[in-house]
Amino acid sequence: MNLVLFGPPGCGKGTQAKNLVAKRGWVQLSTGDMLRAAIAAGSDLGQRVKAIMDSGALVSDEIVIELIAERLPEAEAAGGAIFDGFPRTVAQAEALDRLLEGRKTQVDKVVRLVVDNEELVRRMAKRAAEEGRADDTVEAFKVRLEAYETQTAPLIPYYTDQGKVVEVDGMGSIEAVSAAIATALDG
Ligand code: ADP
Repeated sequence: MNLVLFGPPGCGKGTQAKNLVAKRGWVQLSTGDMLRAAIAAGSDLGQRVKAIMDSGALVSDEIVIELIAERLPEAEAAGGAIFDGFPRTVAQAEALDRLLEGRKTQVDKVVRLVVDNEELVRRMAKRAAEEGRADDTVEAFKVRLEAYETQTAPLIPYYTDQGKVVEVDGMGSIEAVSAAIATALDG
């Protein structure tokens, strides 16, 4: 299974991806987590992306495509990949299609978590207090929402045209959203 968890920043992709890892043994491929790990490790890549990420803007397509490509064999061995925060641009989605095609597989489903903007801002503020992520500031979050709307939202028609999108209400409790995702996957 190649599943894309799709939605704006703060919609709960990471939380739900981790739940699917625990329940189904699939592998979470979160480019945000990979980039934060690179920053924490102080690698060359980490140093290159830190300022961009902190501002809320997207890092280059080449960087994240490379990070994803490296992890595909591992996900394949586990029987499932959960793409979380990737793809975020049409160029990334096209690159993912090519990568998967080269491995004789494809994106199977896109679960779109729908959450309204007011709730997104509320969750961001809560996470800022709990985790202190550098891009969970009001300023950076505005940039992230804008990046989502201009660069990432065009993926909705991209995948809708392929008949792959299932919409899930992301406004409920974590458990309610998990249950709705399970229905979207199995039902
Ligand atoms: P969230 O989903 O809460 O916005 P992420 O952890 O997915 O957070 O992403 C944090 C930041 O990492 C983004 O704002 C961006 O700078 C960078 N990033 C993550 N994934 C990508 C991607 N696929 N393409 C470009 N930049 C990315």
